[in-house]
Order: sequence, then structure tokens, then C-alpha cells
Amino acid sequence: MTIFSRIIAGEIPCYKVAEDDRFFAFLDINPLAKGHTLVVPKQEVDYIFDLSDEDLAAMQVFAKKVAIAIKKAFPCLKVGQAVLGLEVPHAHIHLIPMQSEKDMLFSNPKLKLEPEEFQAVAEAIRQAL
Ligand code: AMP
Repeated sequence: MTIFSRIIAGEIPCYKVAEDDRFFAFLDINPLAKGHTLVVPKQEVDYIFDLSDEDLAAMQVFAKKVAIAIKKAFPCLKVGQAVLGLEVPHAHIHLIPMQSEKDMLFSNPKLKLEPEEFQAVAEAIRQAL
């Protein structure tokens, strides 16, 4: 079981943003910006391009809804999207509020947020959904 499957199962805590029958969204614990969210399929698949066409399309539509809410909650130029998957072998889309190209650099220092701040960020996005 991947760490993300354990989060989805509620075995490991997370700052949940959204969920439906197939997908789950929660805050990245090492955010590049306030609102940095991960969208994952409940199906345990490592490589995103191993998802079926239908699942990949549905995941993108789910991510779109979350991205629209992120932009409402954390006004930005655009919400950027990235897929790396080098650390956690469970497909996921990063959604990151962006003011410029450099905000998408994963080598940037990550924000250190207190639990209450993470809670407030997740709540703001949930309210905007
Ligand atoms: P990558 O697989 O390269 O896309 O990176 C995995 C991402 O998952 C990183 O940005 C981590 O900060 C994030 N991450 C890893 N474990 C957790 C966790 N328990 N809760 C939230 N985010 C996590």
C-alpha cells in the first residue's frame, strides 16, 4: 500500500481538500505555495500514463474543479500543474498557485506552515469548491 493509499484510507492524516468515488485531493505537506494541492486516483497506479484513457481524463476534470477553487481561495495568475512522481509511486497531479514561471520550480525552498495554517488553507479551498 502506498503512503497516498494510506492517506486515502484515513490511516495517515492529511489536510483534505476534496474527494469523490475515484479521486482524492489533499495539501502537499511541503508546499511550494499556499494552496499547493495533490490530486490522486484512489486506484493505486504508480505512473500516471498507465491510467486508462477514461481514468486519466476523469482525473484531469477532477483536478480542474480543484484548481478553480484554489484560484478563488488563493488569487494568482494561474494555477500551474505538474506531474513528477519521482518520490511517491502513486500517480498524482501537483496544483500550484503561480505568479510566474519560477513558482513551479521544485528546487525552490518549501513553505513551513503550522498545522493551523494548513487547516486554514484546506478550509479556504473547500469553501471555494
Ligand atoms: P513527487 O512524487 O516527486 O511528485 O513528490 C511527492 C510529493 O508528495 C512531494 O511534493 C511531497 O511533499 C508530497 N508528500 C509526500 N508525503 C506526503 C504526505 N504524507 N502528505 C502530503 N504530501 C506528501
